[in-house]
Amino acid sequence: MQIKPMIRNNICLNANPQGCAANVLEQIEYAKNNLKASDNTPKLALIVGCSGGYGLASRICAAFGYGSATVGISFENEPTEKRTGTPGFYNNETFDQEASKAGIVSISVNGDAFSDEIKLKAAEAIRQAAKNAGILAKIGLFIYSLASPVRTDPKTGTLYKSVIKPVGAPFSGKTINMMDGTFSTAEAEPATDDEISGTIKVMGGEDLELWMDMLDREGLLCQQAKAAAYTYIGPEISWAIYKNGTIGKAKEDLERACREINKKYTAQNKIAGIWVSVNKALVTRSSAVIPVIPFYVSCLFKVMKDMGLHEGCIEQITRLCRDRLYLAAGVPADSEDRIRLDDWEMRDDVQKAVTELMNNVTPENVFIKTDINGFKNDFLKAHGFTG
Ligand code: NAD
Repeated sequence: MQIKPMIRNNICLNANPQGCAANVLEQIEYAKNNLKASDNTPKLALIVGCSGGYGLASRICAAFGYGSATVGISFENEPTEKRTGTPGFYNNETFDQEASKAGIVSISVNGDAFSDEIKLKAAEAIRQAAKNAGILAKIGLFIYSLASPVRTDPKTGTLYKSVIKPVGAPFSGKTINMMDGTFSTAEAEPATDDEISGTIKVMGGEDLELWMDMLDREGLLCQQAKAAAYTYIGPEISWAIYKNGTIGKAKEDLERACREINKKYTAQNKIAGIWVSVNKALVTRSSAVIPVIPFYVSCLFKVMKDMGLHEGCIEQITRLCRDRLYLAAGVPADSEDRIRLDDWEMRDDVQKAVTELMNNVTPENVFIKTDINGFKNDFLKAHGFTG
């Protein structure tokens, strides 16, 4: 049966299993061709948020680039009689099948990563994966790549919601409908204090700290272990809604958590370190719903493709592994100890060209001047469809 994409407001409600499988295979090929295992690369990796976008690319790099056993945690829907599964469900399925064919151990756990129950299941899965691979149950790589709209605090049972809103002043910005290229103005009232603290609860660093504490308690950490959590900074044009908005506040908290983890674990030689990695703006299921981002990314892709600098999730994470985390000379980081994978996106010449382009695009020339088609294709591809 041919499945057609069902899209509402830059959200896709279904997925195409064959297309999802093809995407995973494509990324596996890239990782195999661009990474090479060494004594320092991980043998056992935990990826929280493993089924799509940056987390999936991270798992693929660990497994197929370095031959690492992986435990992946994600929250995906299985297909039912009426609905297809979510893309991540099919991505996990293909990943596990391919890993098994290649003799690489993989265990995928489906459930709420914020819960104590799933953290304990993850610990069990790590021990099982180590046993299956014939290695010590010690995590060499831990990637935290969650993007979620809600979180239930495991201690209190309170449900928190994350919102994408400005802080302090209303926001108004140009946004684009990727399906037909029409522009509209996205408006958002400033977040309330509760909305800010709710977003920090969901997308901030508290849960990451709970994961680290669990790994320590269960004896799963080792001195060589490296960890990374992902963030985005982006250009000034997006700051009101992103970096200086509710999500940015949550990401500040993620950075706080990494500093705390480094004090608690790295300084005690329990792990090699945790870094916040600032990644490039890309089209994933999460990023398409942030106002301004689809318009900015459509222009960014055009400029970066023209300059031969364009990357997708797998290219970014390959660079994270090869040129940052597992560089013999140590992990290069900025003055705030963050890994910068957004270095090409934020280059002066790239940003200047993007700003110029954004100022010159009209509804009449949007399909010619920008890469809105590339945005749309990547969005459809993330759900297993072609444009
Ligand atoms: P994504 O939507 O593609 O993937 C999110 C993952 O989180 C999925 O595996 C999903 O199953 C999982 N997840 C969500 N809620 C969960 C829960 N309760 N329990 C278990 N798993 C859950 O997202 P993405 O765009 O790859 O984002 C991943 C991270 O990268 C985020 O922290 C995001 O801020 C960051 N980032 C994204 C971009 C971008 O442009 N997409 C850029 C820089 C940084």
